[in-house]
Amino acid sequence: MKNIRNYSLDTKCVHAGIKEDMYGSVVTPIYQVSTFKFRDADQGARLFKGEEDGYIYTRMRNPTVEALEDSIAILEGGAKALACSSGMAASHTLLSTLLNAGDHAVCSESVYGPTMTLLANVMSRFGIESTFVDTSDTEAIKNAMKPNTKLVFIESPGNPTLIISDIEEIAKVAHSKGAKLAVDNTFMSPILQNPFKFGADYIVHSLTKFLNGHADVIGGVVVIKEDSEYEWFRKNLNQVGGVLEPFNSFLVHRGIKTLKLRMEKHCINAQQIAEFLEVHPEIDWVRFPGLKSHPQYEIGTKQMSGPGGMISFELKKGLEAGKILMNNVEVWQLAVSLGGVESLIQHPASMTHASMGKEARENAKITDGLVRLSVGIEDVDDLIQGLEKGLNKIK
Ligand SMILES: *Cc1c(COP(=O)(O)O)cnc(C)c1O
Repeated sequence: MKNIRNYSLDTKCVHAGIKEDMYGSVVTPIYQVSTFKFRDADQGARLFKGEEDGYIYTRMRNPTVEALEDSIAILEGGAKALACSSGMAASHTLLSTLLNAGDHAVCSESVYGPTMTLLANVMSRFGIESTFVDTSDTEAIKNAMKPNTKLVFIESPGNPTLIISDIEEIAKVAHSKGAKLAVDNTFMSPILQNPFKFGADYIVHSLTKFLNGHADVIGGVVVIKEDSEYEWFRKNLNQVGGVLEPFNSFLVHRGIKTLKLRMEKHCINAQQIAEFLEVHPEIDWVRFPGLKSHPQYEIGTKQMSGPGGMISFELKKGLEAGKILMNNVEVWQLAVSLGGVESLIQHPASMTHASMGKEARENAKITDGLVRLSVGIEDVDDLIQGLEKGLNKIK
């Protein structure tokens, strides 16, 4: 569609990125092909020299993947996007493109776990040093900046505490020290937060979550603001190799058509559920960006157009209460991941972090009664009653 960047988000979700083809296809079909033939030797040479626009090999470029990339670049208001085989592949592509041995990065301490270990255990082996701070405290970032800091990497709202970092303030701090700012925008999707508007330089998403929305794809994306950096990023991704498949790209692009509708429903459902939980006698505290009790509620309203679908809360009676809740909820499914149409519930102390031991868990701020919800798009009364089935069993 012409001038798609001028239209509203709803229209962008439906139309952005779709390519015109020789058959008049209404959506971009799945070009499930690894390689593209040249008409003759000269054309092959021109394609490789970049003198002619076209496709060579799917790791380098593929129409179905490109259609998805264009749609996400348009939704985020960036120049270009690079689809990757997972959210982690996207973060790795970003870090391995931007950082060299001897560089330093500052990262949110409440960041997706594998992002922290990617920096701390993998990038560190290549001479890249990282400092983890509470990025809801902009002063803490200032204090962590070093002369060789090249990147500040934040996730807002953060995992699993849902703390909010002030993107605009952090962009100012990073830029004043000659560093770039990258934001993991997975929890918000481009519908609820556009970090480029607040000065971020790069955005990553796990496509696995809200963007795809149907719990049937693993994927990720890097979005870049400046067109001039695109070739550099594309070359690096081509060389590290973690590209997204055409079929998965097709599924995510299809998911995006309903992204705005889904995000609206996630927000409405989650708000009602958070308000229900906040006054429940078995619950100590609830953390949700849409509650006035959230410590960074004001910053949230500045940079987010909705609270999202993620809720954390603490059960007063700890580990055993958590297990009872897990074993008695209805409608909710016990699973990790988030952002799908189906509601998921997770109790880290008895599930994902059970092997860690209580002390190590508490150091990681995983308390015994912590429960995380990814609120889906089912009927909200069904969801509340489903939770009550479990909460009522706690004695
Ligand atoms: C899931 C997730 C990732 C990693 O994405 P994968 O697709 O699982 O590799 C990164 N950041 C956040 C915030 C996530 O929730």
